[in-house]
Amino acid sequence: MLRFEHVCKRYPDAGDALIDVSFRLARGEMAFLTGRSGAGKSTLLKLIAMMEQCTRGNVMLDGKDITRIGEGRIPYLRRNLGLIFQDYKLLNDRTVFDNVALPLIVSGYSHQDIARRVRAALDKVSLLGKEKKHPLSLSGGEQQRVGIARAIVNKPKMILADEPTGNLDPDLSAEVMHMFEQFMQVGVTVLIATHDIELINRLGHRVLTLEHGRLLAG
Ligand code: ADP
Ligand code: ADP
Repeated sequence: MLRFEHVCKRYPDAGDALIDVSFRLARGEMAFLTGRSGAGKSTLLKLIAMMEQCTRGNVMLDGKDITRIGEGRIPYLRRNLGLIFQDYKLLNDRTVFDNVALPLIVSGYSHQDIARRVRAALDKVSLLGKEKKHPLSLSGGEQQRVGIARAIVNKPKMILADEPTGNLDPDLSAEVMHMFEQFMQVGVTVLIATHDIELINRLGHRVLTLEHGRLLAG
């Protein structure tokens, strides 16, 4: 599903953020991406999300080379991805329904399809009945579940999560991870950047470790 081949990333006027990174993730595989602050985790996720381009090497996503694609193709290819953030990035002046519907509106679905898919996504994260609420009236765990519903509403092939449990207590973190495992079981590939070593050890999935931009063996 995902392949990095000798990927290097250098930001202008900065050192190398990623150095000769190669790995593969299979369809339906779930992996953690870890390493200290500044190790290159966000940069690696941004290359997959097509928010940055690598300086050398190749990135393949679902059989397509996304290394040097044109701007025009990016929105189309991004539909295969669900992005989840530590700070949720919800629109606080919109309802839960509107937040989750956003990717579908961008993709041009009909009102009927949008209503059906938003309800299905909210059902998967156990938030049916909260459609009309505003994000700030929800708990942190519920807000992150809205973020997850928004990420899966387009039925993406891959989910990228950047410190998704960074603002959650251990119980809520476990709940969020359980949801990721359920997506994995239906064939979605999941890559989670996190500092949370305890969580990683408890769940026992594959771990990719970055150190100063290099991927450690193992
Ligand atoms: P992490 O997510 O593991 O904390 P990052 O990918 O954010 O690591 O950063 C890796 C390195 O690249 C750091 O040295 C950081 O300062 C640098 N970096 C990240 N983004 C930029 C940028 N837009 N411009 C210049 N340097 C950057
Ligand atoms: P994280 O550790 O979660 O990646 P950071 O505070 O390192 O968060 O980075 C926050 C944002 O700033 C990211 O988008 C990152 O790419 C960018 N960034 C990080 N380092 C630099 C830098 N040296 N120059 C410009 N932008 C940077």
